Amino acid sequence: MAKKRTEPVCTFCGRPASMSSMLVPSAVEPTTMICAECIEHIHEALRDYNQKEIEAQDVTMDNVPKPREIFEFLNQYVIGQDDAKRYLSVAVYNHYKRLAQHNDDVDIEKSNIIMVGPTGTGKTLLAKTIARLLDVPFAIVDATVLTEAGYVGEDIESLLTRLLQAADYDVEKAERGIVFIDEIDKIARKGDNPSITRDVSGEGVQQGLLKLLEGSIVNVPPQGGRKHPEQKMIAVDTKNILFICGGAFDGIERKIAHRLNTHVVGYAGTKTRSRVNSDNYLQYVAPQDLKSFGLIPEIIGRLPLLVHLDPLDREALLRVLTEPKNAITRQYEKIFAMDGVKLTFAPETLELIVDKAIEYKLGARGLRSIVESIMIDAMFEVPSTDVKELIITKEYAEEKLAKANFASNI
Ligand code: ADP
Repeated sequence: MAKKRTEPVCTFCGRPASMSSMLVPSAVEPTTMICAECIEHIHEALRDYNQKEIEAQDVTMDNVPKPREIFEFLNQYVIGQDDAKRYLSVAVYNHYKRLAQHNDDVDIEKSNIIMVGPTGTGKTLLAKTIARLLDVPFAIVDATVLTEAGYVGEDIESLLTRLLQAADYDVEKAERGIVFIDEIDKIARKGDNPSITRDVSGEGVQQGLLKLLEGSIVNVPPQGGRKHPEQKMIAVDTKNILFICGGAFDGIERKIAHRLNTHVVGYAGTKTRSRVNSDNYLQYVAPQDLKSFGLIPEIIGRLPLLVHLDPLDREALLRVLTEPKNAITRQYEKIFAMDGVKLTFAPETLELIVDKAIEYKLGARGLRSIVESIMIDAMFEVPSTDVKELIITKEYAEEKLAKANFASNI
């Protein structure tokens, strides 16, 4: 018994020497011992910790695409919208800089972005294309779901659920991600005067969103939706998450025009008036227009980069149809090529498709459904035939559109 009591034990875990492969005594206090198993554990914990540290600082500027490279990449997929592309390229580059910064005296603050432009002009496409390029988690969420919620404030955090999912629930990764919030205009307050308005939900949602935008620790329901008492929340710090918001802001042109025209009555004089291009007021969009539209000033302040997207004219729509890397016509060509069929769209057919999209006010969004209506019969029949080449003429397209009764389907 006496022998047992004197057997040396590990000071950390109490393991006796007989149960350990080795006990290492302390250099200063030889009776203090550590066993090989504890050393092993500590070694593993240290390695995990160091790995996390490395991952956290992993963002070095060496492997980050430069703004011009980001711009060129966007060019491959998005037609026009040069202003928006430039702003986004810089914003994304700076996002990386912020992640790479070490705790110096100057803290680079994030510049969240708001994109204003008619529907179907490429806002989501820009966001998605950026996601292709980046190696940070990226999520697209829709602000409209927030307006529908009863207890809106509780659900706003669920915007981050997608991001967590994109990051495989790795919180640290998610905390460096990018979130695209679509249809931000739908949570605008209806009416300019906060004291008159009774539209609490819009403003309530904006207040909640503010918390996320400005950077705070929020509890995110891992499965999204509403918070359940039994659902375990995940704490996410939004300080380094870049938010890109997009919205059509229907009718904002009137507010811009009103502001510009009121201005020229003042001492700015006729000079300003002559410079204003009334075809596209959106290019003059300024923070005060967002306020007139119903975004609260605090939100606008947290979205310092205001970018506009131009409406797509006929020429741009034609380019959308054929030029981007994954242009609609290219996609159909590929579909047919997989059956050994060479597909070609006659130039007049492309013009027809664009004309229809304009006629039905569908913009770029409508191009695909128009092409789909034209191609559905061929996609059904051709694989069972010996046809090796298919040219879609204007007459063929017109016939198929008439058959699909396209106008009444939209
Ligand atoms: P929104 O501005 O409403 O977010 P989207 O980005 O979703 O519009 O555009 C809808 C579709 O229209 C895209 O998937 C894309 O095929 C096409 N599209 C719109 N704008 C462009 C553009 N500038 N360049 C290329 N394709 C575009």
